[in-house]
Amino acid sequence: MSQEQWTAVDRYITDRLVAPDAVLEAALDASEKAGLPAINVAPNQGKLLMLLAQIHGARRILEVGTLGGYSTLWLARALPPGGRIVTLEAVPKHAEVARENFARAGLSDVVEVRVGPALETLPQLAKEGQAPFDLTFIDADKVNTAEYFAWALKLSRKGSVILTDNVVRKGGIIDGASTDANVQGMRRFYETVAAEPRVSATAVQTVGSKGHDGFSLALVTG
Ligand code: SAM
Repeated sequence: MSQEQWTAVDRYITDRLVAPDAVLEAALDASEKAGLPAINVAPNQGKLLMLLAQIHGARRILEVGTLGGYSTLWLARALPPGGRIVTLEAVPKHAEVARENFARAGLSDVVEVRVGPALETLPQLAKEGQAPFDLTFIDADKVNTAEYFAWALKLSRKGSVILTDNVVRKGGIIDGASTDANVQGMRRFYETVAAEPRVSATAVQTVGSKGHDGFSLALVTG
C-alpha cells in the first residue's frame, strides 16, 4: 500500500470513529497559523491516547514534547475532575501556542507547560516531589528518548504506564549501521527498555497519515 492509501484509510477511520471536535481543530489551526510543524499525532492516534489514559484511570499525566498541545488536549480529555497534566517543551514559541490552545479549551488550570530541555525539567520535577505520574507520553526529540524513558520510570509508580511514540522510524530501527541519529536514539531506547527488569513492554508498528512508524507501551511492574 502507498502513503496515499494509508492516509485515505486513516480518514475513513477518523470520519467514523473520531467525532469532529471544535477545540481540537482550533488547536491544530492555531498551530498551523503560528508556523508550527505538523508533527502532532493523528486524530485517531490522539483518541487512542485518550482511551488508554481512560482505561488506566490516569489522574496525573506527564508528557515529554508538547508542540502546540494537540496530544495534550487528547490526554486531558481522559482526566477525571481534579486530574492534572504536566507537559514539557523546549521551544518557547511552541509552549506559547500550546498555552493559548489550553486557555481556549478552558484547561489552563489542568495543564502545566514547563519550558526548557526535558533533560533539565525532568530532574526538576523529581526534585520537587511531583512524582508519581500514572501515565507518561514520550514524544519529543528522538535522540534522547532512552533518557526520557529512564526519567519517566523514576517518576512512575508500580502500575504506571509509559507510552513512547515514533519507535519504528519507517523500519529504520533494524539498521544497526544507520547514520540517522534518531534511529540510533530509538535503538538505545529499545536497549534501555529491554535491560529494565521493572517494566513489561511491547511495541507495535503503525501505518497511517503519519507514515510507517509505531509506538511502545510499557507497564511498570516493580
Ligand atoms: N506530542 C505532540 C503532539 O502530538 O501534539 C507533538 C510533539 S513534537 C513531535 C516534539 C516536540 O518536542 C516539539 O515541539 C519539540 O520542540 C519538542 N522538543 C524537542 N526537543 C526537546 C527537548 N530536548 N526537550 C523538550 N521538548 C523538546
